[in-house]
Amino acid sequence: MKIGDIEVLAVADGVGTEVAAEILTRPGVDDPWACHAHHLAADGTLALPLGGFLVRGGTRTVLVDAGVGPFDDGRYCGGALVDSLAAHGVTPGEVTDVVFTHLHFDHVGWASVEGRPVFPRATYRAHRADWQHFVTGAGATPEAVAKLTPVEGQLELFDADFTLAPGVDALHLPGHTPGTTAYVLSSGGRRALLLGDVAHSVVQFGERDWEVIWDVDPAAASAVRNRIADEAADTGDLLVAAHFPGMRFGRVLAGDGGRRFVAV
Ligand SMILES: [Zn+2]
Repeated sequence: MKIGDIEVLAVADGVGTEVAAEILTRPGVDDPWACHAHHLAADGTLALPLGGFLVRGGTRTVLVDAGVGPFDDGRYCGGALVDSLAAHGVTPGEVTDVVFTHLHFDHVGWASVEGRPVFPRATYRAHRADWQHFVTGAGATPEAVAKLTPVEGQLELFDADFTLAPGVDALHLPGHTPGTTAYVLSSGGRRALLLGDVAHSVVQFGERDWEVIWDVDPAAASAVRNRIADEAADTGDLLVAAHFPGMRFGRVLAGDGGRRFVAV
């Protein structure tokens, strides 16, 4: 995918499997997936692709999120990310920046492996609010501590929106997690947003009031998701997230029937 002069490529790592009705719910509705069963496997499970996105422009080679890592617990299975980078012609040593949309385990898996940073020359960047929540604070998770403590020597935390590289901007969208940050690519009059887990399923663009069990602040997450979807319907901006089917970009179309996501 080209956004003007910026190239952005999906970097697959693996797949997670969840019972859809257990993770994405609509308050007061018993079976909200009944109208969306075509998104699910026959057993009611939802496949969640895992991985990140490679952004190349100018002198920078940026990895946005680092997948689940070499890991398999029977539900989440990763391990392909470095090979996927190689298929795009990129070695770990060529990555200049690793940025995280948030610090859940399925986005930081290749930050380090066995206590060593996977990307030796990269500057790692994360929002301070997520670092304080998932690494040093009350919400600290063993996975985040194990994966991220080894990269502290290459780490820059940020507190405010910033421009990472020409046409690559960080946009704080708290809700799913306190530090959730989208990356906005702008070039040649086009824009694309790398959303992280602002949305887990494209169904959420049509259904305004679904909740995801992992949202730290469900009300804020829902408000952010709907604002971004409404804005994207107006602007035609491309949207993508790692957990979308095939990690494919798409647009939000709005009409009499409501909003819907259409892959491109
Ligand atoms: Zn995720």
